[in-house]
Amino acid sequence: MDPLSLIRPKIRDVKAYFIDHTPSPVILDANESPFTPPRKILERMLVVMAGTPMNRYPDMEALGVRAAIAHKDGAAPEEVLLGNGSDELIFYLILAMMEPGERILVPTPTFVMYETIAKSLNMEPTPVPLTDDWDLDLEATLRLIKEKSPRLIFLATPNNPTGKKYPLRAIEAVADAAPGAVVVDEAYIDFSADGPYGLLYRDRPNVIVMRTLSKVGLAALRLGYILADRAVIENVNKVRLPYNINSMTQAAAAEALRNWEEFVPLFGKVREERDKLFTALNEISGIHAWPSEANFILMRVEDGAAERVFRGLLEHGVRVRWFSGHPRVGDCFRVTVGDPHENSMFLSAIREAL
Ligand code: PMP
Repeated sequence: MDPLSLIRPKIRDVKAYFIDHTPSPVILDANESPFTPPRKILERMLVVMAGTPMNRYPDMEALGVRAAIAHKDGAAPEEVLLGNGSDELIFYLILAMMEPGERILVPTPTFVMYETIAKSLNMEPTPVPLTDDWDLDLEATLRLIKEKSPRLIFLATPNNPTGKKYPLRAIEAVADAAPGAVVVDEAYIDFSADGPYGLLYRDRPNVIVMRTLSKVGLAALRLGYILADRAVIENVNKVRLPYNINSMTQAAAAEALRNWEEFVPLFGKVREERDKLFTALNEISGIHAWPSEANFILMRVEDGAAERVFRGLLEHGVRVRWFSGHPRVGDCFRVTVGDPHENSMFLSAIREAL
């Protein structure tokens, strides 16, 4: 028997999420923070992790972490649901909210996992192209909302890979028109100059705010969360697998979150480095970089040179994300903002590779 025949045809067709593991000294392809937590906090995280009783299941409701998140973000613990990364919450939201045949709306280009997870759950997302400046095309979005009645809309803001943060009034207009939920995915919000728009679900209960610790120097913990109306949290929680957040992550994350003010200066450093990198990139002929409110920059490599430059970067030990074959950003790289040394290695490498 062909073992492939055991797999659902739709899953066979899904493109697996690809991570390049070629060893390279400068890794700027995964939007991680170049900074680990401040030493003092890291040491305390390690102490609490070491004290975790290995023979016991984790706290199923993860009360300590939820309380710490609620405190940081000004929400109530009952408005917080945790995921093993926000990826897991995308999965849970689709599982809890969608009936077969219903639509998911996704402004594109955006984070590819919305589509990958939707497909794995038998859903076919409807894309709505962003404008040439990577803004939401509000007219087209509102039209598609009317035509397709999507049960779920994913708005990443700042968006990956464009770095664009959408205006509040556009998000509100989408939420007001939507017949279902609007997930405002704020994975990169700590790097935007004006910060988050707040607990939008308090005025519009169909809005779900999604955040993650992955971009702020804690990617190894795998902790994402949504903030939403209590009724939404209570019911999405019903599809969550028990003990999805392990004890060590719970202990370490609670410690980090309780010392959040010590992380905040690191976001400022990333913003400063990003703005320097943006200016430097746009001074290179053959490169066009877009302004970004995230911890990465989207750049176009002109004159069909993307592949050559990508290979050149790898030869110089620098890994960025290339959207090879993508209809709109196939000639673009997304480069994560690194520390000053990594950024200067990247800039010299790209000047040489061009
Ligand atoms: N949302 C967006 C917009 C992202 O870019 C990412 C990570 N690439 C995630 C969510 C997922 O983050 P995690 O699962 O690490 O929390």
